Amino acid sequence: MYKPGVQNSNAGALSRIGALASEGNDSDEIDSDMKLKILQEKHDSILGGHRGMNKTYESIKRHYQWPNMKREIEDYVKACAKCQINKTLRPKKRAPMEITTTARHPFERCALDIVGANDGNNVWEQVYSDLPGRLE
Ligand SMILES: [Zn+2]
Repeated sequence: MYKPGVQNSNAGALSRIGALASEGNDSDEIDSDMKLKILQEKHDSILGGHRGMNKTYESIKRHYQWPNMKREIEDYVKACAKCQINKTLRPKKRAPMEITTTARHPFERCALDIVGANDGNNVWEQVYSDLPGRLE
């Protein structure tokens, strides 16, 4: 019996599953909940680091694939609120290079850098340097 497309939703669903299967996708079918989890893990997490569209895609492509994957990743990254905020907060131009004066004798100009990860281990490294002076 003929059914117009709108009423024929059962057949539509079946043929969509058929299309997924015929695309040679080895992995089990990835539903939208699973996609969301993958996107959150590969984009929103600390490891994901809110990287751009291409890096997020490369990272997901290594483990998963599904139809329209690239497009869906692009849409997700474009809609990411944190990425949009970062984009507006990030300064558009770098500060201009400054011409600094060169030290005339040792220890006239020094720098102290403290480097470490704020990971609770309290391991820090200090680098004290005498900025190179002009040898005359
Ligand atoms: Zn983001």
